[in-house]
Amino acid sequence: MYRSHTCGELRKTHIGTKVILSGWVQKVRDKGFVVWIDLRDRYGITQLVFDEQRTTATLLSEGRKLGREFVIQIHGEVIERTSKNPQLSTGDIEILVSELKVLNQSLLPPFTIEDETDGGTDLRMKYRYLDIRRNPVKNNLIFRSKVAMEVRKYLSDEGFIEVETPYLIKSTPEGARDFVVPSRMNQGQFYALPQSPQTFKQLLMIGGLDKYFQIVKCFRDEDLRADRQPEFTQIDCEMAFVEQEDVLNAFEGLTRHLLKEIRGIEVEKFPRMTYDEAMRIYGNDKPDIRFDMRFGELNAVARHKDFQVFNSAELVVGIAVPGGATLTRKEIDGLTNWLRRPQIGAKGMVYVRCNEDGSFKSSVDKFYDQEDLKKWAEATQAKAGDLICILSGETMSTRAQLSALRMEMAERLGLRNPEEFAPLWVIDFPLLEKDEETGDYHAMHHPFTSPKPGQLALLDTDPDAVRANAYDLVLNGNEIGGGSIRIHDKKVQASMFRHLGFTEEEARAQFGFLMDAFQYGAPPHGGIAFGLDRLVAILGGQETIRDFIAFPKNNSGRDVMIDAPAPIDEAQLEELNLRLVDNEE
Ligand code: ASP
Repeated sequence: MYRSHTCGELRKTHIGTKVILSGWVQKVRDKGFVVWIDLRDRYGITQLVFDEQRTTATLLSEGRKLGREFVIQIHGEVIERTSKNPQLSTGDIEILVSELKVLNQSLLPPFTIEDETDGGTDLRMKYRYLDIRRNPVKNNLIFRSKVAMEVRKYLSDEGFIEVETPYLIKSTPEGARDFVVPSRMNQGQFYALPQSPQTFKQLLMIGGLDKYFQIVKCFRDEDLRADRQPEFTQIDCEMAFVEQEDVLNAFEGLTRHLLKEIRGIEVEKFPRMTYDEAMRIYGNDKPDIRFDMRFGELNAVARHKDFQVFNSAELVVGIAVPGGATLTRKEIDGLTNWLRRPQIGAKGMVYVRCNEDGSFKSSVDKFYDQEDLKKWAEATQAKAGDLICILSGETMSTRAQLSALRMEMAERLGLRNPEEFAPLWVIDFPLLEKDEETGDYHAMHHPFTSPKPGQLALLDTDPDAVRANAYDLVLNGNEIGGGSIRIHDKKVQASMFRHLGFTEEEARAQFGFLMDAFQYGAPPHGGIAFGLDRLVAILGGQETIRDFIAFPKNNSGRDVMIDAPAPIDEAQLEELNLRLVDNEE
């Protein structure tokens, strides 16, 4: 037996008990006549004591020689501590050691295994297994497991069954590049790793399984943006015989359950907002509604004077920053420069200070009078003491810039409280999205999403206007889930592919299996997928998903611990019939 108890378990009530503990040496404190050791395992830390009076000289000297992160096993008796440590759950007791066995030695760890460590990110990634010994990382992984368990519990209680779908498949378009795997047995042919199990879950509905879920790895070969992982985990779900309302209710239920079980927070019915409203009011399809600063459109009240910047703009729009009137001129210039950075790309900013006495002072006083500014204040719901920030230009980009400013100001004002949870359904997404460069249309969600009833014909005449039964669940400004009601009719699916620029042959070659299946009694169906990594991070009150993944990749998609990706040897290449082409030849 390696242990009778864990290092987090022993209390005053155990005093007098003989115990066996195993764990890692966190710290050795050698006072000469007495040696204290902090012994750590997953469950906590227990103090061990060796001393001149009560232990043998050999044992004392062995204890003294232990190094950090040595793995040891001890036998001993639980005794009361003379000086207690209220910070520690085991702080009332210590173990008087009678036997010590070194189970394994350890090199000196490259960083300290403590809550606050001296190791930088790269070092900690390289020695991730050591990092996992630290409480912050370990606790995140335990937290993640708890969330996953609650998901499984809730969904299986609701009658969902978990089905595994294959990883070696053919490409499923979710808007990213595929990772491909060469097939040895079918030379020159490749599997793709799933960007999501989308087509399989639809096939399960045709298979009659009716309520499916899976906690599943998905793979997308995207240019890595901050905090994206090439492999990530989804809670993937699908239901048959449902309308949008059924899906929203089912997964609002799941989310509410998680908020309650994990965070102890009860949320009323989730608000809903159409995509168009979200864009108009927040300039963003995943608005953070923990705070206001709603957009006020000013076209009607700002384009009647000689101010050409506004007159020539497609959209003039502002937000009222609470308490912002006290910002100095220099601070406002700083904001304008922040907006002008290429990442944001605004040309400039007009501002209005809403003075406490009800008057206004603006950067465009030359053009506008107090009456005008009062109207702007009304449109942006500005109060005395606020600063109205106004941007203008082409609609979509101006909204995006103002949305960035809104988030930045919320951050600076401390309005993004991680302990507060504000879920929101964004519904009625456009079916298609136009690529501004090529003029081609892409599916905004994916090509299996059905247009709203009766809007199919619009695809030919006004594709931008077609709305889909597609929805996102947004939590605190993050998209945590998204899904849609699917097409289940072969003809509609074929027409959809045509509109997306697939020839009939291409559609057949890629998705023939699905179109064929549609002909054998495909039920109406729809579903959703949640990004588990992000959901867990947000529920944990943090934003970085990497901290909640046991073995994450770095920002260049590398696993620096195992050093992947890596070349494979000649023989392997040969076997796969893959030869590297030498450009020199
Ligand atoms: N497959 C979709 C995605 O990964 C989710 C869904 O439509 O259910 O985003």
